[in-house]
Amino acid sequence: GEPATVLAVNNVEVVYNHTVQVLRGLSLQVAEGSVVALLGSNGAGKTTTLKAISGLLALENGAITAGDVQFDGASVRGQAPHALVRGGLFHVMEGRRIFEDLTVEENLVAATYAGGAGRDFDLVYEYFPRLAERRRALAGYLSGGEQQMLAIGRALVAAPRIILLDEPSLGLSPMLTEEIFTIIARINAERGTSMLLVEQNAAMAFAVSSYAYIMETGRIVIDGPVERLMRDQDVREFYLGMG
Ligand code: ATP
Repeated sequence: GEPATVLAVNNVEVVYNHTVQVLRGLSLQVAEGSVVALLGSNGAGKTTTLKAISGLLALENGAITAGDVQFDGASVRGQAPHALVRGGLFHVMEGRRIFEDLTVEENLVAATYAGGAGRDFDLVYEYFPRLAERRRALAGYLSGGEQQMLAIGRALVAAPRIILLDEPSLGLSPMLTEEIFTIIARINAERGTSMLLVEQNAAMAFAVSSYAYIMETGRIVIDGPVERLMRDQDVREFYLGMG
C-alpha cells in the first residue's frame, strides 16, 4: 500500500519576536523513504520551516502560533531539539555548522552524544572517503565541500529516520554540488532515509527528489510529483530558468 507519512506539517504559522509572521498556514508531507524538495526564493521561509520542524525556532525567539508538526505520528511541539534527534529527526543546518576546533572524527563522536543510534564511522567514511583521509584534521581547516560532507556525515552517525537538509549546495562549486547530491541520493536509496531538502538549485533538487513544494511568502503555492512539475511551463520558466 501507500508508504506511511513520516513527517506532516499542518497549517503552520510561525511568528518571530511576537511580531513578524513568516509562515502563513504552511502544509507539507514527507512519505517514508522519500526525498522531498522545498523550493522558493530568498526569504520565502524555507529555513524557518525546517527550524519549526526541528525545534530550533525557539533559539531565535520564534514560535509556532498555529497548526502542528507531526513526526512519526506525534506532535513535535513541546519536544526539545535533542529529544527529536534521539527520536530520529536530524537537521543539517545551513552553513555547515560543525565544530571547527575539533577534528573530523571528534565531530563524528560529538554527533553520537546527541543521542543517535550507533558509532558507525566506517559507514560515514565509506560514503565520504575524503573524510577518512582527513579524519585527524581540524574541521576548521577543511574545504567548504569537505565541511558539508562532515555535516551530512554527522547526520549519518545519528542514523535518523529523516534528515532535514538546508541548502547543501551553498557556496560549493558545480562539481562538488554534484558529488554531494550523488551521495544524498545514495544515502536515500541504500539506507532508506527520508529527506526534506531545501535548495536554491532547483534543477539539482529535482534530480534527487520525487515530490516538490514551492513556497512564496510563508505558504506553499505549487506542489506535485517532480516528474509533473518538470513539465509545468511556469515551473520551468520561473524556477528552472528554462523556457
Ligand atoms: P534564505 O534562502 O534567504 O535563507 P528562506 O526561504 O530560508 O530564505 P528564512 O530564512 O526562513 O527564508 O526567512 C524568512 C523570513 O523570516 C525573512 O524575511 C527573514 O528576514 C525572517 N527571519 C528569519 N529569521 C528571523 C529571526 N530570527 N528573527 C526575525 N525574522 C527572521
